[in-house]
Amino acid sequence: MKFVFSIKKAEGYQDFILLESVFSEFVFGRPVMNWKDFTRRNVVDFCNQIGSRTFCLKDFIKAKIDAFQHFKPNNNHIEAKIRQQLQVLRDTGIISFLDNSGHYTLRGIDLLEPEKKELQSIDVSGEIPERREYLVETYVRNITWAKKAREIFGEYCLYRKCRNTFLKDDGTRYIEVHHIIPLCNGGEDGIWNMSVLCAHHHRMAHFSDAKTRITMENYLLKEVEQRL
Ligand SMILES: [Zn+2]
Ligand SMILES: [Zn+2]
Repeated sequence: MKFVFSIKKAEGYQDFILLESVFSEFVFGRPVMNWKDFTRRNVVDFCNQIGSRTFCLKDFIKAKIDAFQHFKPNNNHIEAKIRQQLQVLRDTGIISFLDNSGHYTLRGIDLLEPEKKELQSIDVSGEIPERREYLVETYVRNITWAKKAREIFGEYCLYRKCRNTFLKDDGTRYIEVHHIIPLCNGGEDGIWNMSVLCAHHHRMAHFSDAKTRITMENYLLKEVEQRL
């Protein structure tokens, strides 16, 4: 029997899927990832490689079996292990069962080549969740909600009528999209929890002292409420 799965948001935070493709696999020649993370990373990489979210279990195994064997050279049942780990991803809600046609589907955020390149230029593997979130928000802008936030909130920073911006080559203004309550703190990935900020205020929203952060959060929530 064949199975079809689809990737769901990882831990309720779809951007983690993106980040996995930049995690370093080995440190001083030793694998640092566990089986589950390694499998998930390879699923995402494979989808990028074939340029499709739908992939065949058989093709995945064929393409990735060497990588898995290299990951754990002493494992003598590597194909069974791959199948088992896909099961683990399914059981933990990262991929889900669709039908019996032998294909998995990767859902969620689109991983575009230019974004991948940008992400590869920064190392986020050791970052705390909030810092990762900031980096993802900053480097990955080409996704639906980010577009929507700019449509609704405009291209000027929402914090205290700030006018800090500059024009880009395409004639639009530079602005960053921000989750007011960070996803890693349970904030939602919806427009009511989004705002647009200039680069400076975006950093401030993530990295200033707790009192300033809370002040900004309350200010932005109010601003957004007025605009929705
Ligand atoms: Zn942010
Ligand atoms: Zn600003």
